[in-house]
Amino acid sequence: MNKKEEILAILKEIIDPEIGKDIVSAGFVQDLEILDDKVCMRLVLTSIACPLKDYFKNEITKKLKEKFEWIKDVEIAIDAKSYDVFSQRKKVEGVKNIIAILSGKGGVGKSTVSINLAFALSEKGKKVGLLDADVYGPTISIMGGKGKIIFEDDKIIPYERDGVKIISLGYLTSKDAPIIWRGPLIHSALRQLLFDTKWGEIDYLIIDLPPGTGDPIISLSQLTYLKGGIAVTTPQDVAISDVRRAINMLFKLYIPFLGIIENMSYFKCDNCFKIHHIFGFSKIDEIAKEFNSEVLGKIQFDINLASSSDRGEIFVLKYKENETAKAFFEIAEKILKRT
Ligand code: ADP
Repeated sequence: MNKKEEILAILKEIIDPEIGKDIVSAGFVQDLEILDDKVCMRLVLTSIACPLKDYFKNEITKKLKEKFEWIKDVEIAIDAKSYDVFSQRKKVEGVKNIIAILSGKGGVGKSTVSINLAFALSEKGKKVGLLDADVYGPTISIMGGKGKIIFEDDKIIPYERDGVKIISLGYLTSKDAPIIWRGPLIHSALRQLLFDTKWGEIDYLIIDLPPGTGDPIISLSQLTYLKGGIAVTTPQDVAISDVRRAINMLFKLYIPFLGIIENMSYFKCDNCFKIHHIFGFSKIDEIAKEFNSEVLGKIQFDINLASSSDRGEIFVLKYKENETAKAFFEIAEKILKRT
């Protein structure tokens, strides 16, 4: 091995935790040059602002200096122009529009919104799929009722309920077992659920992502083309601060931001019809403005919504005429207009 090959062999020990590949095989290391006791290279990342850039720089310098006594200096230029992880994206056969539903934090009602939106779109005459990609806590399998996923000739056949095709990891894992995922595993699980499922013809595939800005949304953006992302929040300040982060993540991954939904926005008393802002006053008009986007809707706190989900009943189908259900249908209408 010559010196360059020796250096590359050492650099191959550095793994990008997001894609699970080493930095050489991933094509990050370019223009490696040796000038006497100095090693120079270009590190071509997804974006100049890649959060891992300092980690890579430090690891490269540390490993090379540790391994080769003759190396006194390592110069690394960060670049982002020629490497494009997005070039690996593929269309999901038969699926026209993919919409990701995300939130900054858990428990804001992201899955509740995902499933009711999916069925509201289906009620509007669209062919709909629902993919529960909440790998850490899949709940669509509870909200969607008892379903079964079948494997047939290397393909996954989704559970179909009232015309909506549903895939949830919850149908595959035992109910209370903790689900432990590392980045690369999430990537391959999502790839299989997306590409190995027999979706048939689908107008809208709704993807219920886990809360936060971790591996799943990054993987999804690298695997396929998304029509856009919808952010769900409650009015609490903690949720609002986290949802900003989630929206910024969409921008960073070049995913169009379709708008924001406020869940548990208010509670209307059954007796006096007075509106109570149990989680504080709405702040999403401000946020929508800040991101130059749209408020898609405000969903009230509705006890029937929670109990339907727990019983595996589809709220928008069971309570079609209810005010909360109507809010979901209006959101579906806005999505149809925007996509
Ligand atoms: P997430 O997916 O964000 O973790 P979920 O959709 O699982 O949140 O909702 C968390 C809990 O809140 C569930 O028990 C759900 O039934 C309940 N819930 C969600 N939205 C509402 C609402 N608008 N009114 C009443 N309960 C709700």
